[in-house]
Amino acid sequence: MGGYGSGDWYRWNTKATVESHYEIDIRWMKKQGYLHPGSAATLSWGSHGAKYNSIGLRVETDRLVLNYHNQQNGGAWERIEDEIFFTWIPCNYGGNRQWFLCPGCNRRVAIVYGGKYYRCRHCHNLTYSSQRESKPDRLIRKAQKIRVRLGVRRNLLVPILFKPKNMHQKTFDRLRREADDAINLWCTIIWRQRQASLARLREGLFSTSTARG
Ligand SMILES: [Zn+2]
Repeated sequence: MGGYGSGDWYRWNTKATVESHYEIDIRWMKKQGYLHPGSAATLSWGSHGAKYNSIGLRVETDRLVLNYHNQQNGGAWERIEDEIFFTWIPCNYGGNRQWFLCPGCNRRVAIVYGGKYYRCRHCHNLTYSSQRESKPDRLIRKAQKIRVRLGVRRNLLVPILFKPKNMHQKTFDRLRREADDAINLWCTIIWRQRQASLARLREGLFSTSTARG
């Protein structure tokens, strides 16, 4: 399971990518044999051997009960007990397939994602990062598209100096500015991303020691 124990925690703007959240996949639970009523397990997430957080799972006949501690914005740790009901849908090839019913929207889902509460990706407003080009990539592509239009090499280190013959000066100035802005924004985002990544690492180490103490 890619979501467990992976080391990528940073998030983009307010729309976090799925990979940066703790997740519980009902198919994974089934494979592990955790879906039988009465079974209980503790899931831990961490990175590079450091344990960040753990969550207690208990399966009852019609629901999954979650027990964990949540810390919001560096505040006090709050103990949370939550439950997610199951629903069963007959499969085409026979038998029933078990799903979660998201407590937030009653959607039938296979995966719930952490935050303060475990909910489906719609409730968390998550997007799959693989389904969209990341913002930095888009900026680079934008800058390169402009360069092609201006007849300049794609290499971003080559300055844009000359206006194509049949282009208005105004258009040229605007396009050159747009290309510059895209690259400047790209630099800012990459820098922020590194900072966020470092901050999460620090936060993770801090949480671990708090949880033990
Ligand atoms: Zn939902």
